[in-house]
This record gives sequence, C-alpha cells and structure tokens, in this order.
Amino acid sequence: MEKDINLKIFKGNLIFTKTSDKFTIMKDSYIVVIDGKIASVSSNLPDKYKGNPIIDFRNNIIIPGMNDLHAHASQYKNLGIGMDKELLPWLNNYTFPEEAKFLNVDYAKKTYGRLIKDLIKNGTTRVALFATLHKDSTIELFNMLIKSGIGAYVGKVNMDYNCPDYLTENYITSLNDTEEIILKYKDKSNIVKPIITPRFVPSCSNELMDGLGKLSYKYRLPVQSHLSENLDEIAVVKSLHKKSNFYGEVYDKFGLFGNTPTLMAHCIHSSKEEINLIKRNNVTIVHCPTSNFNLGSGMMPVRKYLNLGINVVLGSDISAGHTCSLFKVIAYAIQNSKIKWQESGKKDMFLSTSEAFYMATKKGGSFFGKVGSFEEGYDFDALVINDSNLYPEDYDLTERLERFIYLGDDRNIMKRYVCGNEIFGPKF
Ligand SMILES: [Zn+2]
Repeated sequence: MEKDINLKIFKGNLIFTKTSDKFTIMKDSYIVVIDGKIASVSSNLPDKYKGNPIIDFRNNIIIPGMNDLHAHASQYKNLGIGMDKELLPWLNNYTFPEEAKFLNVDYAKKTYGRLIKDLIKNGTTRVALFATLHKDSTIELFNMLIKSGIGAYVGKVNMDYNCPDYLTENYITSLNDTEEIILKYKDKSNIVKPIITPRFVPSCSNELMDGLGKLSYKYRLPVQSHLSENLDEIAVVKSLHKKSNFYGEVYDKFGLFGNTPTLMAHCIHSSKEEINLIKRNNVTIVHCPTSNFNLGSGMMPVRKYLNLGINVVLGSDISAGHTCSLFKVIAYAIQNSKIKWQESGKKDMFLSTSEAFYMATKKGGSFFGKVGSFEEGYDFDALVINDSNLYPEDYDLTERLERFIYLGDDRNIMKRYVCGNEIFGPKF
C-alpha cells in the first residue's frame, strides 16, 4: 500500500524571483506540495499527480510569503508615534517606557496578540523579532507564535548597561534567563526558534556580550542586533569602546559578528573598515527604510553593498518603522535607492522591483532555510493575491504585482500559507 502522504496541488499565476535580476512568471501553472515542501513547479501537471484534487486560484496571483528580518514585537503599540525624535531621544522618550510594561505578562499577551494578527494580515510568513528583556513575556511570545503557525526567530533582549533603572538587568540573570529560554525552545518547534539578541553595543556590558557570544557558539544560534544606525549612537559606542576602531569590531570581539549567521539592522553610516568586516564575516545587513526615514537616520547605500556582494534583506523595524507590511517596505526601499541614485550622480543604480522583491522573499527567506521561492525542496510559504479591484485585465502579470505592491493592501491577500499549511490568524 502506498504511503499516506500529505499532498496538495495549487494552481494559479505564479510570480517569484529565483534570482534578483528578474521575475519568473508562470501563468496558469501548478505547484505540488508534499508534507509542506514543494515537490514540483510546472506549467502542466505531471502525470503522476493527475487525479488528485487541485486548489485552483484561477486568475489570482500566487507569490512567496514575506520575510521580515527586523522587528520589535514589544513596540507594536507605539506604531505611528514618536516620529519627531532621532534614535536616542526616541528610545528614551517612547521605546524604553513602553518596553518596561512587558514586566506584566498580561500586557505582553495583549500586545503580542495584536502584533501577530497584524503580521499575518499583511502577509508576513517569517519574522525575526526582538521581545524585551523580560523572560516570562518572551516565553509568551514564543508560545503565541508557535500557535499562530508563522515562522520566527525570537530574541529575549539583553541589556544591562547604560539603560534606565526601570529597564535594565544584571548580566548574570540576563545570561541565565537567555539560556533557560534557549533550552526550552531550541527544539520545540521546527519554525519558531531562539536567536541571540544583544540590544545594541551602547546598552550591553563587556561581560554580557562575552557571555552572549559564548551562548551563540555553544548552541550554534544566530545573532541579531543593530549597527551604525545613527551618528550620535556611533559616537556613544566610540566613547565606550575607545580601543575598538569601529562599532562592528565590538560585536566581533565578543563573537557576535558572523561566527554564526548574523543579522545587523541598518548599517547606514558604516565605515570602510566596518563594511570590509561585514563582507569578510558574511554578516547580513537588514535594510529598514521606513524606520530610517521616520527617525531621520539617513539613507542606506544599498547599491554599494549589493555591488560588494554583501547580503541585504528587508525589515519593517516596527515601531521606528510605521507599518508591518513588507510590501510597503519594498516600495520604500526602492524610493530610498532612488535618492541615493540621484546623490551619486546616477552612478549607484536604484533597486529594480524584482531586486527589492527578492530581498523580501528568497534572500530574506534564506535566513530561515529553504524559504522564499517556488523551487523544488523549498517550504511552501505563499500568499494568494486577489487584485480584482485594481483592474487586472488592463495589465500583464508583472505590472499586476507591481500595482499590488504600490496600491494594494492586506485586503488583497486572500490566502496565506506557511510550510503548506493555511494560516488563518490566531484567536487570542
Ligand atoms: Zn531595531
């Protein structure tokens, strides 16, 4: 008797990016998914799968899910406020007071529930999240994400230095709590995993960073943090670490800069030496253009990094970024690159739509495994886009996707899948 396999066949207009330079467009085509993974992508259904039921999305568009590589779950309630400040006063006036509330687990549950709903609504299927320093609230975030069905890296934030009294921890407690969470969640879910999360150099003691580097090595866990976002921030790092030549070197000294897969958000003002180390250590830069515009941090030189072969992915960076929608982040990334293009005398070419889409799908997804494309062996993470309110009959498929990115919103997303499972949104 044949093995009982979990087989699903999807049909529709497929759009994805195998490479960043162009869209792969497959009209009226089929994706066969077995046990959550893509077994076949083709214009005609292979004979061996014929006779199985087909989920036919007709004229709608099927694209990979969105991968958000930098977001602060605990800042969800601050979306759309505090935009009249730069990074450091913004942290002190808005962010730290809000994060302190996560000592209360009920408050955390309420806020995290709203966040997860919003992520799912906007088509985010995988996300790298900062929680807060609080262990119990971070555990709730893990549990809620596992229940939700989307994939995530979740970091208990570590901060023990240079922080307000009401939001700081002792480095020993910080490391113990982090290790407890790692042990509890490293094997609990295939798609929700822990990530080492020093907040940023200014708020971490040397002892804490040293311990975190050791934990990341011991458990082979990825790392996420911030780097060279703002000039005042860089000046603080310089004053605290006089022997280091540049900001990124501090993380590197403690084994937090590419020993394991590493995400560094922003990198707007990185020096030549820092860029060289990013490249040499294969660190991934998370470009967060909405955040950079809102806090006036600067324009990330995306083309320069791509030309050097550096990995660049996208992040919403809520709540410095004002939206969970990675589609909006794609549009902002392109607009940001057009300003840099002008500034460079049109030398640094702006991002094409396919390049920015690739960052949000296949490139961003690669941090989570074989995620973000419609190729054999990839997890089937997908969104079904119904653009019937955007006059699809007047446009080709690439134009329809472009119009959805710029004009559409969550109401156009009719289905969401992660590892072949439909995600309906949690009931918290
Ligand atoms: Zn951030």
